[in-house]
Amino acid sequence: AFRPARRIAGIGVSEILAIGARAVQLRREGRPVIVLGAGEPDFDTPDNVKDAAVAAIRAGATKYTVLDGTAELKAAVAAKLRRENRLDYAPTEISIGAGAKQVIHNALMATLDDGDEVVIAAPYWTSYADMVAIAGGVPVPVAGREENGFRIEATALEQAITPRTRWLMLNSPSNPTGAAYSPADYRPILDVLLRHPQVWLMSDEIYEHLCYGNFSAVSPVALEPALRERALVVNGVSKSYAMTGWRIGYGAGPEALIRAMAVVQSQSTSNPCSVSQAAAVEALNGPQDFLAERRASFLHRRDLVVEALNAIPGITCRRPEGAFYAFAGCAGVIGRTTPTGAVLSTDMDFCRYLLEEHDVAVVPGSIFGLAPYFRVSYATAEGELRTAMARIARAVEVLR
Ligand code: PLP
Repeated sequence: AFRPARRIAGIGVSEILAIGARAVQLRREGRPVIVLGAGEPDFDTPDNVKDAAVAAIRAGATKYTVLDGTAELKAAVAAKLRRENRLDYAPTEISIGAGAKQVIHNALMATLDDGDEVVIAAPYWTSYADMVAIAGGVPVPVAGREENGFRIEATALEQAITPRTRWLMLNSPSNPTGAAYSPADYRPILDVLLRHPQVWLMSDEIYEHLCYGNFSAVSPVALEPALRERALVVNGVSKSYAMTGWRIGYGAGPEALIRAMAVVQSQSTSNPCSVSQAAAVEALNGPQDFLAERRASFLHRRDLVVEALNAIPGITCRRPEGAFYAFAGCAGVIGRTTPTGAVLSTDMDFCRYLLEEHDVAVVPGSIFGLAPYFRVSYATAEGELRTAMARIARAVEVLR
């Protein structure tokens, strides 16, 4: 009989995928399900980027490349980090992978021994904890309370750190809350890290371009250069440039770490797709003006969703600084009864009820490490968002 490795025992297929699959099934049965679960922009990849990929194919860029990224792409990343983040990294300190996800995986595989601990700022992208576990590590979530803007507090972080802690994983703006850290928010966290030299900082900045109003994202490594020698800045083109399918992400960190990550990649996937790398060069070096347009569209949808959710009795929603997610509290519906007589005991129950009886797919907060909440992805057409919000309002209204 099949016996899975201990490494993956207990790690299920992501609940997000399970909800997505159920939504597809309901749609096939003819139900008008609206899915607010996706972690990708609904925009298309810009034409200049597509053209660069076509040109690369024609020019024969269809072979193996340097293992962890072409010289052109590493140079484009170095220039981007200097231009936008005030970070100075040499090409030898940059690693390109098949998505930010592979970069994170490489870093964890390259650094964790069995039982090493990784502190994860919660609520967190569910993959973080599973990737830590697959690499043999122990995820240690530290929850950021809503009262603190879903940001972690320095004292909670300090208490979670042990001699076995290898990393702190931070993601700003955040999936799933959209919360982001200002320089003042970062300061106490960075001070804790300075006191614990065994802890490295993994800063996932993949949503940096999606910030709204007066908020603009900063890299914690630019704020505290003393951490540069034990930090990995993670980013990629998936979210900013609507390039989720192309699979290009990058990391910047000390050369020894980057070399160790290359060892992991060399025995798994080798180089990231050659054509996608050429496209990413164009994304980073080409015109950036469309970003502001898309940001304006996301801002509009954020406000629409946040206001609609807050208008529902029993639901609350903090206005997030960035990304394309809203993280709504549903404590006010827990314990209530649906028209068919089911009691909603958890946010999971509430999300199942929304999907099964009101044709809206959202993701329960419990899978991100904070309950009772649910995550709404608003990277969806405005008309659909309005309909979905009306359905959620109706679903709550008929509860007893
Ligand atoms: N980091 C965060 C916080 C994410 O939400 C995602 C995607 O959902 C990623 C990283 C991975 O992005 P990719 O592997 O497409 O670069």
